Amino acid sequence: MTAPILPGATLGVLGGGQLGRMFAHAAQQLGYRTAVLDADASSPAGLVSHLHVQTGYLDAGGLARMADACAAITTEFENVPADALRTLAARVPTAPAGDAVAVCQDRAAEKALIERCGVPCAPHALIETEAQLAAVADSLLPGILKTARMGYDGKGQVRVRDRAALVAAWTELGRVPCVLEQMLALDFEISLVIARDAQGASVALPIQRNLHRDGILAVTEVPAPGVDAALAERAHDAARRIADGLGYVGVLCVELFVLKDGSLVANEMAPRPHNSGHHSIDSCDVSQFDLQVRCMAGLPLVAPRLHSAALMLNLLGDLWFDPAGREREPDWAAVLALPGAHLHLYGKTEARRGRKMGHLTLTASSPEGARLQVDRAAAILG
Ligand code: ADP
Ligand code: MG
Repeated sequence: MTAPILPGATLGVLGGGQLGRMFAHAAQQLGYRTAVLDADASSPAGLVSHLHVQTGYLDAGGLARMADACAAITTEFENVPADALRTLAARVPTAPAGDAVAVCQDRAAEKALIERCGVPCAPHALIETEAQLAAVADSLLPGILKTARMGYDGKGQVRVRDRAALVAAWTELGRVPCVLEQMLALDFEISLVIARDAQGASVALPIQRNLHRDGILAVTEVPAPGVDAALAERAHDAARRIADGLGYVGVLCVELFVLKDGSLVANEMAPRPHNSGHHSIDSCDVSQFDLQVRCMAGLPLVAPRLHSAALMLNLLGDLWFDPAGREREPDWAAVLALPGAHLHLYGKTEARRGRKMGHLTLTASSPEGARLQVDRAAAILG
């Protein structure tokens, strides 16, 4: 076992978005310095870090500067090229590894890994050629056609009812490699954030129940309504198998579907902290970002304890526009007057519809209390 990297050292992150910003906050709380690689001069994480290397992810000079400056490096952006991590790994410890990230970046590889781990996933077929398109089994329709790479927040997906729609959808998506998944009868969606160290020991956040709107996460609730101890154990078992199967070191989020028949299906993984785990900053004594820091620094992992019920609302750029389309600033003073309101704004200068500008977590001693506060917050935000 190698010695941990202690506070005072510099920890680096590839990607300067809000996840990187919250990572930097957690690292700095422990006394680490932080370095960010992101080409955007006003990236949310770059703005709060000691060093901001402003180059592309595969820029040799940029990667060398990160390797020079950092004692360890992680990633916050799912589509950071795995090769950037592999290049860095030759010089500095990186967590997660490029190979694990590569699996999570490709839906076909991801599904193959899930199946190899003995975890159920949606029936699906890979479509890379005209012949594969024609050979799709009837049982996969109606389904969802998803690009194998680069999809997020519901982008790169088309719901298809029949064969004609499937053919049209593949053309619409540019005939790039895709995965067609059978449309499943979802009861609800959950996710689980797991952190695994180099020795293979893991801890996890409580299971989160998620509600999406227009393909984007809208609300996360903990404790997750409708998840009993048996279902929770199945979800934990699935996440552990997947993390073990990847030989994963770091924070991994596994998205799961609970089907109407009660069965559990793994949907996809994110090789990093996840939007659905943001509540942990305010609801748990150890957050997903604390766990990310501990994993990469080789510090002990301790199981997070949920000390408050919580609901997290994503704050999208839409809130910065009134019904007539004029720009406005939400009434933060009124929001902050609510007991248990934890407002996180990411410092993005331009509000755009659908852009994640921040999140608001409402904590209370009971789920009912948290729901009451959410209703009040929603009334204020309009
Ligand atoms: P993204 O990378 O955009 O998050 P997902 O695969 O998670 O893509 O799909 C986005 C959402 O679409 C899911 O959260 C779920 O609501 C719905 N969805 C995805 N796959 C299926 C499926 N096979 N059956 C039913 N709903 C699905
Ligand atoms: Mg998803």
